[in-house]
Amino acid sequence: MAQLLEGKKIADKIIAEIKAQFIALNRQPVLACILVGDNAGAEAYVKSQAKIAESLGVTYQLHKFAALVSEVELGEFIKQLNSEKSVNGIILQMPLPKHLDYEKLVSQIEPKKDVEGLHPENMGKLICGSSSGRVVPCTANAVMELLNSTQVDLRGLEAVIVGRSKIVGKPLALLLLEKSVTVTVCHSATSKAGKLQEHVNRAQILIVATGKAELIKGSWIKEGAIVLDVGINRVEGKLIGDVEFKPAEERASFITPVPGGVGPLTVAMLMRNLLACVKAQL
Ligand code: NDP
Repeated sequence: MAQLLEGKKIADKIIAEIKAQFIALNRQPVLACILVGDNAGAEAYVKSQAKIAESLGVTYQLHKFAALVSEVELGEFIKQLNSEKSVNGIILQMPLPKHLDYEKLVSQIEPKKDVEGLHPENMGKLICGSSSGRVVPCTANAVMELLNSTQVDLRGLEAVIVGRSKIVGKPLALLLLEKSVTVTVCHSATSKAGKLQEHVNRAQILIVATGKAELIKGSWIKEGAIVLDVGINRVEGKLIGDVEFKPAEERASFITPVPGGVGPLTVAMLMRNLLACVKAQL
Protein backbone atom coordinates (compact mmCIF):
# COMPACT_ATOMS: atom_id res chain seq x y z
CA MET A 1 0.00 0.00 0.00
CA ALA A 2 1.40 3.39 -1.03
CA GLN A 3 2.32 6.23 1.30
CA LEU A 4 0.21 9.33 0.67
CA LEU A 5 1.99 12.46 -0.55
CA GLU A 6 -0.08 15.24 0.97
CA GLY A 7 0.77 18.68 -0.33
CA LYS A 8 -0.90 20.63 2.47
CA LYS A 9 1.70 19.85 5.18
CA ILE A 10 4.64 20.70 2.92
CA ALA A 11 2.82 23.82 1.69
CA ASP A 12 2.26 25.09 5.27
CA LYS A 13 5.98 24.73 6.02
CA ILE A 14 7.00 26.55 2.83
CA ILE A 15 4.49 29.36 3.45
CA ALA A 16 5.91 29.87 6.97
CA GLU A 17 9.46 30.08 5.53
CA ILE A 18 8.38 32.60 2.89
CA LYS A 19 6.61 34.71 5.53
CA ALA A 20 9.79 34.86 7.60
CA GLN A 21 11.74 35.98 4.52
CA PHE A 22 9.27 38.76 3.68
CA ILE A 23 9.52 39.96 7.28
CA ALA A 24 13.33 39.84 7.09
CA LEU A 25 13.25 41.86 3.85
CA ASN A 26 10.88 44.33 5.54
CA ARG A 27 8.63 44.28 2.45
CA GLN A 28 4.89 44.18 1.96
CA PRO A 29 4.74 42.89 -1.60
CA VAL A 30 1.92 43.52 -4.05
CA LEU A 31 0.64 40.75 -6.32
CA ALA A 32 -1.65 41.75 -9.20
CA CYS A 33 -3.88 39.19 -10.90
CA ILE A 34 -5.67 39.78 -14.20
CA LEU A 35 -8.82 37.70 -14.58
CA VAL A 36 -10.77 37.78 -17.84
CA GLY A 37 -14.36 36.56 -18.22
CA ASP A 38 -16.17 33.98 -16.08
CA ASN A 39 -14.57 30.62 -15.37
CA ALA A 40 -15.45 28.71 -12.20
CA GLY A 41 -12.05 26.91 -12.02
CA ALA A 42 -10.08 30.14 -12.48
CA GLU A 43 -12.21 31.96 -9.90
CA ALA A 44 -11.62 29.20 -7.34
CA TYR A 45 -7.85 29.33 -7.98
CA VAL A 46 -7.84 33.14 -7.66
CA LYS A 47 -9.69 32.86 -4.32
CA SER A 48 -7.06 30.49 -2.94
CA GLN A 49 -4.28 32.82 -4.18
CA ALA A 50 -5.91 35.75 -2.34
CA LYS A 51 -6.30 33.73 0.86
CA ILE A 52 -2.65 32.63 1.00
CA ALA A 53 -1.51 36.13 -0.01
CA GLU A 54 -3.43 37.59 2.92
CA SER A 55 -1.85 35.11 5.34
CA LEU A 56 1.58 36.30 4.12
CA GLY A 57 0.82 40.02 4.41
CA VAL A 58 0.91 40.31 0.60
CA THR A 59 -1.48 42.84 -0.93
CA TYR A 60 -3.49 40.98 -3.56
CA GLN A 61 -5.03 43.06 -6.35
CA LEU A 62 -7.67 41.37 -8.48
CA HIS A 63 -8.27 43.13 -11.82
CA LYS A 64 -11.37 41.73 -13.50
CA PHE A 65 -12.07 42.27 -17.21
CA ALA A 66 -15.15 41.36 -19.22
CA ALA A 67 -14.74 38.43 -21.64
CA LEU A 68 -15.02 40.83 -24.60
CA VAL A 69 -11.96 42.91 -23.63
CA SER A 70 -9.58 43.51 -26.56
CA GLU A 71 -5.96 42.32 -26.73
CA VAL A 72 -4.81 45.94 -27.11
CA GLU A 73 -6.62 47.02 -23.94
CA LEU A 74 -5.19 44.12 -21.93
CA GLY A 75 -1.71 44.78 -23.32
CA GLU A 76 -1.96 48.43 -22.24
CA PHE A 77 -3.04 47.35 -18.76
CA ILE A 78 -0.10 44.93 -18.47
CA LYS A 79 2.26 47.77 -19.44
CA GLN A 80 0.71 49.94 -16.73
CA LEU A 81 1.29 47.21 -14.11
CA ASN A 82 4.87 46.78 -15.40
CA SER A 83 5.56 50.44 -14.78
CA GLU A 84 3.97 50.62 -11.31
CA LYS A 85 6.87 50.38 -8.87
CA SER A 86 4.66 49.12 -6.04
CA VAL A 87 3.55 46.04 -8.04
CA ASN A 88 5.99 43.13 -7.56
CA GLY A 89 4.23 40.30 -9.35
CA ILE A 90 1.73 39.92 -12.21
CA ILE A 91 -0.48 36.92 -12.96
CA LEU A 92 -2.33 36.62 -16.26
CA GLN A 93 -4.87 34.03 -15.16
CA MET A 94 -5.57 31.18 -17.58
CA PRO A 95 -7.75 30.36 -19.44
CA LEU A 96 -8.29 33.43 -21.61
CA PRO A 97 -11.23 33.76 -24.03
CA LYS A 98 -10.41 32.40 -27.50
CA HIS A 99 -9.95 35.80 -29.21
CA LEU A 100 -7.01 36.63 -26.90
CA ASP A 101 -3.53 35.29 -27.66
CA TYR A 102 -2.09 34.15 -24.29
CA GLU A 103 1.49 33.85 -25.57
CA LYS A 104 1.44 37.34 -27.04
CA LEU A 105 0.08 38.85 -23.81
CA VAL A 106 2.28 36.93 -21.36
CA SER A 107 5.36 38.02 -23.29
CA GLN A 108 4.39 41.63 -22.49
CA ILE A 109 4.76 41.05 -18.73
CA GLU A 110 8.04 42.39 -17.33
CA PRO A 111 10.08 39.15 -16.81
CA LYS A 112 11.10 40.26 -13.29
CA LYS A 113 7.39 40.46 -12.37
CA ASP A 114 6.43 37.17 -14.06
CA VAL A 115 5.46 35.21 -10.91
CA GLU A 116 4.19 32.26 -12.91
CA GLY A 117 7.46 31.76 -14.78
CA LEU A 118 5.66 31.66 -18.13
CA HIS A 119 7.35 34.58 -19.93
CA PRO A 120 9.60 33.30 -22.78
CA GLU A 121 12.67 34.72 -20.96
CA ASN A 122 11.92 32.68 -17.83
CA MET A 123 11.07 29.57 -19.84
CA GLY A 124 14.39 30.10 -21.64
CA LYS A 125 16.28 30.20 -18.34
CA LEU A 126 14.73 26.86 -17.48
CA ILE A 127 15.91 25.34 -20.75
CA CYS A 128 19.41 26.76 -20.20
CA GLY A 129 19.44 25.34 -16.66
CA SER A 130 20.42 28.72 -15.20
CA SER A 131 19.67 28.82 -11.49
CA SER A 132 20.12 32.49 -10.61
CA GLY A 133 16.89 34.42 -10.08
CA ARG A 134 14.79 32.03 -12.09
CA VAL A 135 11.08 31.52 -11.59
CA VAL A 136 9.72 28.10 -12.46
CA PRO A 137 6.10 27.32 -13.48
CA CYS A 138 4.26 26.68 -10.20
CA THR A 139 2.58 23.31 -10.84
CA ALA A 140 5.75 21.72 -12.22
CA ASN A 141 7.66 23.03 -9.20
CA ALA A 142 4.96 21.67 -6.87
CA VAL A 143 5.42 18.20 -8.37
CA MET A 144 9.19 18.44 -7.83
CA GLU A 145 8.65 19.41 -4.16
CA LEU A 146 6.48 16.33 -3.65
CA LEU A 147 9.07 14.13 -5.35
CA ASN A 148 11.81 15.56 -3.15
CA SER A 149 9.70 14.88 -0.07
CA THR A 150 9.91 11.12 -0.78
CA GLN A 151 13.71 11.35 -0.25
CA VAL A 152 14.14 8.74 -2.99
CA ASP A 153 17.38 9.05 -5.00
CA LEU A 154 15.99 10.03 -8.40
CA ARG A 155 19.18 9.64 -10.46
CA GLY A 156 18.77 7.21 -13.33
CA LEU A 157 15.12 6.45 -12.60
CA GLU A 158 12.67 6.10 -15.47
CA ALA A 159 9.99 8.83 -15.46
CA VAL A 160 6.94 8.98 -17.69
CA ILE A 161 4.99 12.25 -17.92
CA VAL A 162 1.54 12.09 -19.49
CA GLY A 163 0.63 15.56 -20.82
CA ARG A 164 2.91 18.11 -22.50
CA SER A 165 1.41 21.47 -21.52
CA LYS A 166 3.54 24.56 -21.02
CA ILE A 167 2.58 24.74 -17.34
CA VAL A 168 3.13 21.10 -16.37
CA GLY A 169 4.58 18.50 -18.76
CA LYS A 170 7.22 20.54 -20.61
CA PRO A 171 8.81 22.30 -17.59
CA LEU A 172 8.69 19.06 -15.59
CA ALA A 173 10.62 17.21 -18.28
CA LEU A 174 13.40 19.83 -17.92
CA LEU A 175 13.34 19.81 -14.11
CA LEU A 176 13.57 16.00 -14.05
CA LEU A 177 16.45 16.04 -16.54
CA GLU A 178 18.28 18.39 -14.15
CA LYS A 179 17.94 15.59 -11.55
CA SER A 180 19.41 13.04 -14.01
CA VAL A 181 16.11 11.22 -14.43
CA THR A 182 15.40 9.47 -17.76
CA VAL A 183 12.29 11.15 -19.13
CA THR A 184 9.56 10.15 -21.58
CA VAL A 185 6.73 12.58 -22.37
CA CYS A 186 3.42 11.13 -23.63
CA HIS A 187 0.48 13.01 -25.15
CA SER A 188 -2.73 12.40 -27.07
CA ALA A 189 -0.91 10.96 -30.10
CA THR A 190 0.76 8.40 -27.79
CA SER A 191 -2.75 7.26 -26.80
CA LYS A 192 -3.97 7.25 -30.39
CA ALA A 193 -1.01 5.06 -31.34
CA GLY A 194 -2.09 2.61 -28.60
CA LYS A 195 1.21 3.03 -26.74
CA LEU A 196 0.16 4.78 -23.51
CA GLN A 197 -0.18 1.66 -21.34
CA GLU A 198 3.19 0.35 -22.50
CA HIS A 199 4.95 3.58 -21.45
CA VAL A 200 3.08 3.91 -18.15
CA ASN A 201 3.87 0.30 -17.35
CA ARG A 202 7.62 0.90 -17.13
CA ALA A 203 7.44 4.21 -15.21
CA GLN A 204 9.24 4.28 -11.87
CA ILE A 205 7.99 7.86 -11.58
CA LEU A 206 4.62 8.54 -13.18
CA ILE A 207 3.28 12.09 -13.52
CA VAL A 208 -0.12 12.58 -15.11
CA ALA A 209 -1.58 15.95 -16.18
CA THR A 210 -4.21 15.43 -18.85
CA GLY A 211 -7.55 16.55 -17.36
CA LYS A 212 -9.05 13.17 -18.37
CA ALA A 213 -10.67 11.49 -15.37
CA GLU A 214 -9.09 8.12 -14.53
CA LEU A 215 -7.36 7.90 -17.92
CA ILE A 216 -4.61 5.83 -16.28
CA LYS A 217 -5.83 2.48 -15.01
CA GLY A 218 -4.51 1.22 -11.68
CA SER A 219 -3.45 -2.09 -13.25
CA TRP A 220 -1.03 -0.20 -15.58
CA ILE A 221 1.07 1.07 -12.65
CA LYS A 222 4.47 -0.55 -12.12
CA GLU A 223 4.88 -2.11 -8.65
CA GLY A 224 6.62 0.41 -6.37
CA ALA A 225 6.17 3.41 -8.70
CA ILE A 226 5.90 6.98 -7.40
CA VAL A 227 2.61 8.32 -8.76
CA LEU A 228 1.92 12.07 -8.97
CA ASP A 229 -1.54 12.92 -10.22
CA VAL A 230 -1.92 16.57 -11.26
CA GLY A 231 -5.36 16.17 -12.85
CA ILE A 232 -8.47 17.69 -11.30
CA ASN A 233 -11.79 16.49 -12.71
CA ARG A 234 -15.28 17.03 -11.38
CA VAL A 235 -17.33 13.88 -11.88
CA GLU A 236 -20.81 13.55 -10.40
CA GLY A 237 -20.03 16.35 -7.96
CA LYS A 238 -16.78 14.76 -6.76
CA LEU A 239 -13.18 15.77 -7.51
CA ILE A 240 -11.08 12.95 -8.95
CA GLY A 241 -7.70 12.68 -10.64
CA ASP A 242 -6.40 11.36 -13.95
CA VAL A 243 -5.30 8.09 -12.27
CA GLU A 244 -7.66 5.39 -11.01
CA PHE A 245 -6.74 5.94 -7.36
CA LYS A 246 -7.70 2.79 -5.38
CA PRO A 247 -5.98 0.13 -7.53
CA ALA A 248 -3.03 2.47 -8.17
CA GLU A 249 -2.60 2.95 -4.40
CA GLU A 250 -2.26 -0.85 -4.05
CA ARG A 251 0.70 -0.95 -6.46
CA ALA A 252 2.53 2.36 -5.93
CA SER A 253 5.13 3.17 -3.24
CA PHE A 254 3.98 6.81 -3.02
CA ILE A 255 0.87 8.44 -4.44
CA THR A 256 -0.78 11.89 -4.35
CA PRO A 257 -4.46 12.07 -3.38
CA VAL A 258 -6.85 14.22 -5.44
CA PRO A 259 -7.74 16.64 -3.98
CA GLY A 260 -5.02 17.39 -1.42
CA GLY A 261 -1.89 16.35 -3.33
CA VAL A 262 -0.36 18.73 -5.88
CA GLY A 263 -3.05 21.45 -5.60
CA PRO A 264 -2.17 22.97 -2.19
CA LEU A 265 1.50 23.23 -3.16
CA THR A 266 0.86 25.11 -6.40
CA VAL A 267 -0.09 28.36 -4.61
CA ALA A 268 2.87 27.96 -2.23
CA MET A 269 5.16 27.79 -5.28
CA LEU A 270 3.49 30.95 -6.63
CA MET A 271 4.40 32.76 -3.41
CA ARG A 272 7.94 31.41 -3.58
CA ASN A 273 8.19 32.90 -7.07
CA LEU A 274 6.85 36.20 -5.74
CA LEU A 275 9.66 36.20 -3.18
CA ALA A 276 12.19 35.57 -6.00
CA CYS A 277 10.64 38.46 -7.97
CA VAL A 278 10.82 40.82 -4.98
CA LYS A 279 14.50 39.93 -4.47
CA ALA A 280 15.23 40.41 -8.20
CA GLN A 281 13.63 43.88 -8.04
CA LEU A 282 15.62 45.07 -5.00
P1 NDP B 1 -3.80 20.90 -21.07
O1 NDP B 1 -5.16 20.68 -21.62
O2 NDP B 1 -3.06 22.14 -21.40
O3 NDP B 1 -2.88 19.66 -21.48
C1 NDP B 1 -3.34 18.35 -21.39
C2 NDP B 1 -2.31 17.42 -21.94
O4 NDP B 1 -2.80 16.10 -21.82
C3 NDP B 1 -1.98 17.65 -23.42
O5 NDP B 1 -0.60 17.57 -23.63
C4 NDP B 1 -2.71 16.49 -24.11
O6 NDP B 1 -2.08 16.03 -25.29
C5 NDP B 1 -2.65 15.42 -23.04
N1 NDP B 1 -3.73 14.44 -23.21
C6 NDP B 1 -5.06 14.68 -23.31
N2 NDP B 1 -5.73 13.54 -23.51
C7 NDP B 1 -4.81 12.55 -23.51
C8 NDP B 1 -4.88 11.15 -23.69
N3 NDP B 1 -6.03 10.53 -23.90
N4 NDP B 1 -3.73 10.45 -23.64
C9 NDP B 1 -2.55 11.06 -23.44
N5 NDP B 1 -2.41 12.38 -23.28
C10 NDP B 1 -3.54 13.12 -23.32
O7 NDP B 1 -3.96 20.72 -19.48
P2 NDP B 1 -3.10 21.30 -18.25
O8 NDP B 1 -1.71 20.82 -18.30
O9 NDP B 1 -3.36 22.76 -18.12
O10 NDP B 1 -3.87 20.59 -17.05
C11 NDP B 1 -3.94 19.18 -16.96
C12 NDP B 1 -4.76 18.79 -15.73
O11 NDP B 1 -4.08 19.27 -14.58
C13 NDP B 1 -6.17 19.39 -15.65
O12 NDP B 1 -7.01 18.47 -15.00
C14 NDP B 1 -6.00 20.60 -14.76
O13 NDP B 1 -7.20 20.94 -14.09
C15 NDP B 1 -4.96 20.09 -13.80
N6 NDP B 1 -4.16 21.14 -13.17
C16 NDP B 1 -3.96 21.04 -11.83
C17 NDP B 1 -3.20 21.96 -11.16
C18 NDP B 1 -2.95 21.79 -9.71
O14 NDP B 1 -2.48 22.70 -9.08
N7 NDP B 1 -3.21 20.60 -9.15
C19 NDP B 1 -2.64 23.13 -11.85
C20 NDP B 1 -2.80 23.09 -13.29
C21 NDP B 1 -3.56 22.13 -13.91
P3 NDP B 1 -1.91 16.95 -26.63
O15 NDP B 1 -0.83 17.92 -26.28
O16 NDP B 1 -1.53 15.98 -27.67
O17 NDP B 1 -3.24 17.59 -26.83
